[in-house]
Amino acid sequence: MLEQLRQKALSLGAFRAEIVEVKDITLDASFRKLCESNACGNYGRNYMCPPDAGDIYELMDQIRIYDKALIYQTVRGLEDSYDFEGMMQAGSLHNQLAQKLWDYTDELQSEDFCGKKILHLGAGGCRLCSVCGKVTGAACAHPDRAMRSLETCGINVSLLAQLAGMCYINGLDTVTYFGAVFVGSK
Ligand code: SF4
Repeated sequence: MLEQLRQKALSLGAFRAEIVEVKDITLDASFRKLCESNACGNYGRNYMCPPDAGDIYELMDQIRIYDKALIYQTVRGLEDSYDFEGMMQAGSLHNQLAQKLWDYTDELQSEDFCGKKILHLGAGGCRLCSVCGKVTGAACAHPDRAMRSLETCGINVSLLAQLAGMCYINGLDTVTYFGAVFVGSK
């Protein structure tokens, strides 16, 4: 089943996609401090980012209930290392791939995945809406499709890349984003 997901991720444009054991993933609550530093500007401005995303210890506990995970990465070229627009566009394309993968797991869930528990995690803040309801004061527009990031749940993505046999950075003037689909037995 996970192999089907892996092949789908690659066919949708993922640069690499590999399956790992969740017990081998490094979780670290100190990543919340990184979010709190607000380097990305999403802290307090996205329902799927801290502090609204939930307590990091509870989120890490939620990760631990899964057995295996499909880790995938997308890599896009940038004009240069200051190409902010290119980074945003790459993030949007990554999110589109993640949502298509979500559609595919929905399909599989009605067949092979019957009874499996699934969790999708992405990169950065949820990008489903052009402006998150958190900013405008509206309720989340897609609570059933909103996606937390790997880091929000305390996952060390650099070590995750190593675990999956992938490069965290894929060359000069490129941007790499990671996503994951966690699969559990219940
Ligand atoms: S679905 Fe829209 S409103 Fe909900 S967290 Fe994502 S961006 Fe924000």
